[in-house]
Amino acid sequence: MNKKQIFILFLSIACFVMGIGISSSFQSKQTVPIKMMTSIFPLKEFAHAVVGDWGEVELLLPPGAEIHAWQPKPSDLVKLSSADVFVYIGAELEPWADDILRSVKNPNLHVVEASKGLFLIGHEEEVEKHKNGIRDPHIWLDFTNDKKIIDRIAEVLSQIDPDRRAVFQENADIYKQKLDALDDVYRKVLDQCDQKTIVLGGHAAFGYLARRYNLSQISLYGLSPDSKPTPRQLIDVIDFIKEREIGAIFFEINVSSKLARVIAEETGAKTLVLNPGASLPRKQDHSGITFLSIMKKNLESLKNGLGCH
Ligand SMILES: [Zn+2]
Repeated sequence: MNKKQIFILFLSIACFVMGIGISSSFQSKQTVPIKMMTSIFPLKEFAHAVVGDWGEVELLLPPGAEIHAWQPKPSDLVKLSSADVFVYIGAELEPWADDILRSVKNPNLHVVEASKGLFLIGHEEEVEKHKNGIRDPHIWLDFTNDKKIIDRIAEVLSQIDPDRRAVFQENADIYKQKLDALDDVYRKVLDQCDQKTIVLGGHAAFGYLARRYNLSQISLYGLSPDSKPTPRQLIDVIDFIKEREIGAIFFEINVSSKLARVIAEETGAKTLVLNPGASLPRKQDHSGITFLSIMKKNLESLKNGLGCH
C-alpha cells in the first residue's frame, strides 16, 4: 500500500465512523427523554400527564414552598439551561421568571407562560393598594383553564417531537376528560348550597373557582399570604360570619391557621381545609397525592362548609 492508498483507506474509515456517529445521533434524537421543568405542582402534574413516558418533569418549587415568596437559586438556573421546556404560570406569580429567562443561555428552551391568553381576574382592592394593578394568578383553580394549559403543553411537545403528536394529544385528552368529570361534580354539588360565600382564613386564592361556580370569596389576606392582615380585616371577617351565620371558615395547610382558629372560636364557625394545591406540604408522605385528589378533597370541604345537598 502506498501513501496515497493508506490516506484513502484512512479517509474512508473516518467517513464511515463519522457516518455512524451522525446516524446514531439522528436516531437518538427521539429516544432522549424530553426534559421539562415546571414552577408549581399542578403544572408538573399536567406536564407529566401529557409527556407520559417520553419525558421527565421536574418541579422547581420544593414541597412546603410559599409560592408567592419563593426565589430561585443559581442551581435552578443551571437546571433550566439544559431543559427543553419550561412551564410557569405568569401573571406576577413568579416575579423571578423574567430575570431567570433573560439570563439562562438555552436557545432550545420552549417556554409556556400558562396564563397567557386566559381571562385574568383583576382585584380592585389590590389595584388601589399597588396603584398599577394586580392580576389574580390562581388560574389553575378553574378546570377549564387547566384544559387550555394542557393543550398548549401538548402543542409545544409536538413541535419538539412531531412524530409523537398523536401520543401527546391522546394523553392530553385523557387528562382533560378527568378535569371535565371533576368540573361536572363540582357544578352539581356547588349548585345546591345554603351558603354562596367561601370565607377564607388564608389568602384570596379561590377567585377563579368561585367565579366558575357562581360563588364568592372573602379572605383575611389579599392575593398573596405574605402580608399580615390588619385588625380591621379580622373584625370585618368576624362580623361577616356572624351576620350571615356562616358555618365554616376555610384555611390552607401551607399558611398559618392560627387566625382562622381565632375567628372560629370567636364566631362558633368550624374550620376546614381548602388547599390551593400549588405546592405539596413540607413534612408528609406525598405518595398518592395528586392535583386531582387535592381538588376532590376540597370539594368535600366545600360541601361540608357551605352546606351543599
Ligand atoms: Zn396563592
